[in-house]
Amino acid sequence: MRAILLGAPGVGKGTTAGLLVEHYGVVHISTGDMFRSALKNETKVGLVAKSYVEKGLLVPDNITNDLVEERLLSDDVKNGFLFDGYPRNLFQAEEFDKILKNKNWNLDAVIYITASDECVIERIAGRRVCPKCGAVYHITNIPPKVSDICDNCGTTIIQRKDDSKETVLDRLRIYKEQTKPLISYYEAKGLLVEVDGSKNVELTFKQIKEKFKG
Ligand code: ADP
Ligand code: ZN
Repeated sequence: MRAILLGAPGVGKGTTAGLLVEHYGVVHISTGDMFRSALKNETKVGLVAKSYVEKGLLVPDNITNDLVEERLLSDDVKNGFLFDGYPRNLFQAEEFDKILKNKNWNLDAVIYITASDECVIERIAGRRVCPKCGAVYHITNIPPKVSDICDNCGTTIIQRKDDSKETVLDRLRIYKEQTKPLISYYEAKGLLVEVDGSKNVELTFKQIKEKFKG
């Protein structure tokens, strides 16, 4: 499988990706995770990306595209990949097409996960993450066993800076303006697979398995 997950922030791309990569035996490539780890490690990319990521703005396209191109040089992508959070605008999508073309690779599917604005806002408001191991929780839907403590590593879980109320609406606006045009872009290429993400992650996963026979 060589595929992309498309959908609003908070729609569950990351959690769904976790199930999909296990099922299909491919690697999960989240540009958001890559930027957050670059920030944490204070790499050159991290220092440039910091202000954008914290404000919920898109990191400049050339930096993002370069990061992706470099990531695709690794051996582990040979059996397939699932992108999550990339491409995020038309320019990135066109650049991604070129990167894949150079490698003689085709995309199999663009999985578009849908949910209402209210639904994604509620999910983001309740989202908590482990700053140490990256595990993701939700205060009511997926709470840790012990309140505020990561099940995996015992670290106190926190809210991502860009999950704050003020930033969420900006991220949704940017998604609508810049990322939503990708739906018709990939629909025209016959790649779009649309699934309902408004219930739970198992149901999203089930729909994808039914609709994508790859
Ligand atoms: P979300 O929960 O909004 O899907 P992500 O974890 O995908 O968040 O991304 C977090 C942040 O990382 C974005 O708000 C943006 O600053 C940066 N980022 C991630 N992917 C991209 C991309 N493809 N282009 C530009 N910036 C990106
Ligand atoms: Zn943890």
